Amino acid sequence: MNDPRLLTGIGVSPGIAVGRAVLSRREVPDVPHRTVPLRQVRKEIRRITAAVNDVRRYLEGLRTEAADAAGPDAAKIFDGQVLMLTDAEFLRGVEELIRDHRLTAEKAYEFRALEVCDLWSKAESALLRDRVTDFTAVANHVIGRLMGRDPSAIRSELTQEELTVLVMHELSPGLAVELHGSNVVGVVSEEGTRTSHAAILAHSLGMPAVLGASGALDRIAAGERVIIDGARGLVLRAPTEAEVADAEAREGRRRLHADALAETLDLEARTPDGHEIVLRGNLDLPAELDVVRRFGAQGVGLVRTEFLITARTRLPTEEEQVAYFTKLAHAFPDDPVVVRTYDLGGDKIPAAFRAPPERNPFLGWRAIRVCLDRPEIFRPQIRAVLRAATAGNVHLLLPMVTRLDEIEAARALIADEATRLAGEGVPAAASVPLGVMVETPAAAVMADRIAEVVDFMSVGTNDLTQYTLVIDRGNAKLASRFRSYDPAVVRLMRGIVDAGRASGVPVSVCGEMASEVVEAFLLLGLGYTTFSVAAPALPMLRWFVRQVPMADAQRAAAAVMEARTASDVWHLLREALAAHVDLALVDVPNEVAAPEGHG
Ligand code: PEP
Ligand code: MG
Repeated sequence: MNDPRLLTGIGVSPGIAVGRAVLSRREVPDVPHRTVPLRQVRKEIRRITAAVNDVRRYLEGLRTEAADAAGPDAAKIFDGQVLMLTDAEFLRGVEELIRDHRLTAEKAYEFRALEVCDLWSKAESALLRDRVTDFTAVANHVIGRLMGRDPSAIRSELTQEELTVLVMHELSPGLAVELHGSNVVGVVSEEGTRTSHAAILAHSLGMPAVLGASGALDRIAAGERVIIDGARGLVLRAPTEAEVADAEAREGRRRLHADALAETLDLEARTPDGHEIVLRGNLDLPAELDVVRRFGAQGVGLVRTEFLITARTRLPTEEEQVAYFTKLAHAFPDDPVVVRTYDLGGDKIPAAFRAPPERNPFLGWRAIRVCLDRPEIFRPQIRAVLRAATAGNVHLLLPMVTRLDEIEAARALIADEATRLAGEGVPAAASVPLGVMVETPAAAVMADRIAEVVDFMSVGTNDLTQYTLVIDRGNAKLASRFRSYDPAVVRLMRGIVDAGRASGVPVSVCGEMASEVVEAFLLLGLGYTTFSVAAPALPMLRWFVRQVPMADAQRAAAAVMEARTASDVWHLLREALAAHVDLALVDVPNEVAAPEGHG
């Protein structure tokens, strides 16, 4: 990892590409500050209208291209851009500037656009900040038109025959579509996040992309050869012939494997020795519902309701929540939809939730503690779940439980709201299955007692690892120490599944651990048979389950229970797995990234 030729970013669209770097430094157009005489004001306003109409046609063209190449969902991104482009209030603001200050159309537009970007960039919500990229792209198109630029100019710049990796400051959604079908085989950008529209489009279009690679334009020389790995987020400059050959071979295997994965979508997740595994999807943003369904999830194992608050200035009403949960229930008529009550506090403090600053937010007033202390927030959510449960199989899940009396208090509130709803004559279920997240060491240790008072348990391995190993899950410096297969976590995981089995209470895993194949192998061996993961991990997991006999997973897990260190666990699992899957294919590194001086 210390190779000076290596740049790291966020891998947002898998695939390994080799090409010559073309640097695109086309930044925001430099708009001269000019004023116009009074008689020209009307003309400037007409120029805005004409440019907006032009850009609208252009975006609609991109929409059609995106629909053909990436499907209807991806194409909707451009509907959003058209809405931004034609926003009446924004355009009125531009006109005002032209009238009041006699600015040129391009200058007035630029002023207003900068104001909006500034406002959105300060927003707490990552979603809104991502949308700044979309808006900037739209604004640059309009300003470019007003200054007589051709929006498709980049296509003509890329006509040389050689395979190209485009390196730029920021990839816009429109450019991602325009590059499709060109000789550009991969993209590197300095800005960008996993959730940006450009990332989503690059993924849908199958264009390997590494975003957020800061300093890329300075560190990569124009014309030099680069290899990009769009899954791991790596860019290697000036590779040797052997490195190129290795990259091409890996890409060949990856494609073969991707075809195999696509074919398993309709197959059951059953191990070769006949054990059925249930695979559900985690749902963060409501917009992810389609993907969760498309990847064949057997229900939603975790609805993170905090995301209902993100990008909003107020908490959602009971009615809004009823509508959302009902929509989910209808989307999965045969499977459970597990709604987790607000997991607020810690790292999840959206603007609409006012919480006092704390010295240790992860150890502070959060999740179930907030829910119980603030019934005016908690009760509408409970009511919404009870009401939506008339439409399907809706479950309720409590986050960050550490004590049994928290569950009892929540149960009393649920019963109370059920009685009230009945009294009000509002259609609602009399009760719903109630579960808890086992994601604190306290809950793990008390799992046998918890199992006596709940209908199901769901293990949150992200927090369980964080609190057991005392490692902040978001601290990049400690990332290599954050290992859910550490023997300390594994012992707790074993205790939880055993407690569930002894009480006949189903136990699932909804943390990231379930989406990594080596760790999923361990979970199977420990006795977990229901997993809920982010939708994109579902095809790989389904394929994987079909390769590994349960008996082997159990043998490996038994050996792991004797292990002393995380490295020992890793090597044991890796070795046992190698008998069934090509580890290079599933991207399992040889070695764990060991923290300095430790095993
Ligand atoms: C977890 O902690 O593992 C979990 C699934 O919950 P979240 O990631 O939302 O904290
Ligand atoms: Mg958690």
